[in-house]
This record gives sequence, structure tokens and C-alpha cells, in this order.
Amino acid sequence: MQISDITLTRFTYENLVSSDAEGHAHPGPPRAAKATLLTLRCDDGAQGEVIVPGSADPRIYAKFVTPVLRGKDPLRVEALWQALYKRQRGSGGRLTDRVLAAVDLALWDLRGRVAGQPVWKLLGGYRDAIPAYGSTMCGDDIDGGLATPDDYARFAEWMVRDRGYRAVKLHTWMPPMPGAPDVRRDLKACAAVREAVGPDVPLMLDPHHYYSRQQAIWIGQRLEALDFLWMEEPMEEASLSSYRALTGAMRSLDIVGPESAAGKHWTRAEWAACGAADRLRAGVWGVGGLTPALKIAHLADAFGMDCEIHGTGAANLALALAIPNTTYYERGLLHPHIDYETARPYLKSLEDPMDGAGLVRASDAPGLGVAIDHDHIAAHQLD
Ligand code: MG
Repeated sequence: MQISDITLTRFTYENLVSSDAEGHAHPGPPRAAKATLLTLRCDDGAQGEVIVPGSADPRIYAKFVTPVLRGKDPLRVEALWQALYKRQRGSGGRLTDRVLAAVDLALWDLRGRVAGQPVWKLLGGYRDAIPAYGSTMCGDDIDGGLATPDDYARFAEWMVRDRGYRAVKLHTWMPPMPGAPDVRRDLKACAAVREAVGPDVPLMLDPHHYYSRQQAIWIGQRLEALDFLWMEEPMEEASLSSYRALTGAMRSLDIVGPESAAGKHWTRAEWAACGAADRLRAGVWGVGGLTPALKIAHLADAFGMDCEIHGTGAANLALALAIPNTTYYERGLLHPHIDYETARPYLKSLEDPMDGAGLVRASDAPGLGVAIDHDHIAAHQLD
């Protein structure tokens, strides 16, 4: 079996989520957003697919990806990942980790379809269901949205009592929202949520990513008093010594990271080795795919640490189901004005349906099991 063809199909869909000037998602008016279907085809008819967020650049794939993949055995995922990774060095920054991730996910989808097995089982198959936490959008200035600590409290109460989420993670106010960043206002939102959901619901915070050490330690100590489970990415992640200082200063609050730092599994190994976090973090789109993300989960396991999976979607869900050392699936981003339970227009069903008990169950569909609506894509194709 050989890879014969790599195609990108760019298309539009109606999106009710907008990005602010610093890239944070908020509810917005309907707009035409772009996404890309990446398809790998083999000479025997086998294929793997993945939806890539945004409009993928075909020139990058033609220059760096197609020459590496064409004619190769698609089941040798590690060999292909290594070959692409080595091409990053000379690509002038154009062959990004996100491109690596897109190709790696399509390879895993193909591998699962060829085997007739879901990817979560091929990766380890530790469990067939996982509890989800509700992950909020960042704070905003929207009426009835996430504009005040009380808004967060009301929404968290709905998530836990009415929708069944097992835990809640707040993303608080970040620039360019008026008044942000404000470590005291972030703490008020956390305190309001704790009061609303009671003492038994695990809570987490993901605040402004550029707090100083003093600000991060200040809020961390107060989150311990509110019995928060973890805090992630409160400071610049390139500063390993700041994270060692923060982690060392906490008694009961777990520091989780790195989430957005470059360097794939190698960076996470350094964080584990030097005690910069209590739990590691990896999401497939940030570390270059499932192949390196699985290594991060296993290296965390070898250190006796959990690896909390960053982000949503079928591939992150497959990883969370595959391994023993993670706590939740991250579901979101959620907002009082967003209907998360309706699949995006290019999908026939949700990638992460959750029952009333807060459990997201594994699919038995081969590959990543994403129900792509090819008719929608054909009708909204850009090229
Ligand atoms: Mg985060």
C-alpha cells in the first residue's frame, strides 16, 4: 500500500463564534468561516481524512508534505512523522507543528480505517468513556454572557446542575476586554463559581497568560483556599524557572503545563524533569499530532504524573480515552449564548456527545470516527 495523493479542499461554513483582536473566541454574528478537508489517498483505495481549522496553504503541502509522503507506506506513521519533523528545520518556519499535526491525524485516521478499528483502541484503549469538564470561553462584556463574576457563577451552576458536567474550568478576562488583565477580578469570578457549585465540584482556572510570578503565586495561594484542582498557563511558558518557582510555592493547587510552548515532547520532558509542573499538558494540534502527544502521555506516566489533554475534537478525545493518566476530556469552549450541542455545519454529528451524567463515550467507528458531511463541503468549496 502506497500513498498516491494528498489533497486539500478548502470550504466555508457559517460560524457563530468570532475572534477578538488577541485571538480569543466569543459569540458573534453569523459569519462565513473557512476550514480545510485534508485527504490522503492510497493506490488501493484506502484513505484518511481530517478537518483542518482555517484555510490551509496548498503551497506548504506541495513543497514539504507531498514529496515526503507520496509513494510511502501510510502505516509507517512514526517514520513519516520523523521525516516531516526533520523537514521543519529547513522550512524557514513554514512547515509548522499544526501542519505536522494535520498530516499525522490523517495518517492515524487512515490506519484505523485500514484496521477497521477506532484510533482510541489502536493507541491503547484504556477506557471507553471519560468524564468531561466544561471549559468556558474567555470573559467578555456581553449582556448575559461572561461579563461579571455573577455571570460565571450562574453559568457554572447551569453546567453542573442542568447539563451534568463533572468539573468546570474558567477562562477569565484577557485583553482586549476592558479592565483586563486583573488578577483580583479573576479571583472574584473563581470565588463566585465555588460558592455557586458548592464544595464538591472540581474547579480549574486558565487566566491571563502573562501574569508575573508574584501575581501567579498571589492568585494560586487564594485558589488553594477555594480548593481549586489546577491552574494552567498563568505566565509566559518560555520561563521555566518561573514555573518551577510557582509549582514550588503551591501546596494543594496543581500547576499544569506547558500548553502552548513549542518543542513537542522534548519540552514536556524538560518540564517533568525539572519540576516545572505537577501535571503535563498536551493537545494534538499544539504538539504536532497524536504521535508526539502519545509520547508525552507516556512520559508523564513514567514520571508518575498525569497528562491533561488540551482541547476538543475526535483526536484529543481518542488520546484521552487511550491512556490511564488523564482526568477529564475538555469540552468547549462553552458560553451562555452558544449552542455547543449542535454539530458544526460540515459534520453530520458531534465529535464529543456527552450524556446527562457528564460522560463522553467512545465511538466504535473505524479511524477517528468523524462524521464529515461531504455534501456540505462540496456545496461550499472555495477552490
Ligand atoms: Mg489552556
